[in-house]
Amino acid sequence: IDVINRISAGEVIQRPSNALKELIENSLDAQSTVIKVTVKDGGLKLLQIQDNGSGIKKDDLDIVCERFTTSKLQKFEDLRKIETFGFRGEALSSISHVSHLKILTKTADSNCAYRAYYADGKLAPSTAGDTIDPKPCAGVNGTQITSEDLFFNVPARKKVLRNILEEHARVVDLVRKYAIFNSKVSFILKKADISTPDVFTQGGEGTTEKEVISLIYGSEIAKELKELSSSNDKLEYKMTGLFSTTNLSSKKPIFILFINNRLVDCRNLKLGLEQLYTKYLSKGAYPFIFVRLSLNPRNVDVNIHPTKSEVRFLYEDQIIELIQKVVDTELNLSIL
Ligand code: ADP
Ligand code: MG
Repeated sequence: IDVINRISAGEVIQRPSNALKELIENSLDAQSTVIKVTVKDGGLKLLQIQDNGSGIKKDDLDIVCERFTTSKLQKFEDLRKIETFGFRGEALSSISHVSHLKILTKTADSNCAYRAYYADGKLAPSTAGDTIDPKPCAGVNGTQITSEDLFFNVPARKKVLRNILEEHARVVDLVRKYAIFNSKVSFILKKADISTPDVFTQGGEGTTEKEVISLIYGSEIAKELKELSSSNDKLEYKMTGLFSTTNLSSKKPIFILFINNRLVDCRNLKLGLEQLYTKYLSKGAYPFIFVRLSLNPRNVDVNIHPTKSEVRFLYEDQIIELIQKVVDTELNLSIL
């Protein structure tokens, strides 16, 4: 059974950045305003996330890593979210099957924090001979989740992920994108033994996405971005986005897409927009594209890839065409 669980866990979590994405979404779901991520070896040796969110109640600690355990099924809106993004209650379980997982958490109404260790979806002793019960300890409100030695028990997977620099780059990229989309939340990403952070944003009530983009990608890119929007009731979509409108040269094309608040890939939309820019940009110049797309969850198909990152949706061609039209019109005006 554990082997089967480990295989399905490997489908949800394929590399450190997949695990981190789930952990960040959990922290955001818990209403955190500050999210700190610490990694070692691209997240393979250590992947730790500290948030200041709601925390996990002591009584829930024995089940949070069980498969399909979720506290997020109460509201109708949540049910729709399930429709959109497949798995629920699988992230922590999966991570506990393929790494050494520790949770340190404190809710505001508890006078101490609790620390618990997990293996294969269940509470586990911290060291041989210890009991499995969550232990009271000192701690601040919020949750710290630590995953160590990712894929220590999946040698085949570990072998594929030998390029630590690449894994780290993917982690940086992920945190940057979530930091932009969640501009009111502060994000810090750093390597365990290095004090200079790789990502550092200071969110606040008034912090805009553009300000975070400026911080991360530079003010030259940020100041040329135009906010554009497009929507259609019949096709059940609403798009708003920030689009570069000059011949600025970004070293590579940057395309960031959130569908229904989740970072996803959509090859057709990406290519469709990037191709449009080639009509306007000189050689060696690349666009910066940041798209927020809301779709009727029923129209989204996420089952084409187990990590649920590549997304297809109903009316895709028409919607892409309409978005292209809006961008095309703007580029026509602003790029000579
Ligand atoms: P899901 O997010 O789909 O509910 P997960 O496996 O990602 O499933 O998380 C399981 C449960 O653990 C969540 O429903 C939530 O109750 C709790 N949880 C996980 N991370 C956090 C966190 N950072 N803060 C508060 N609760 C959390
Ligand atoms: Mg989750």
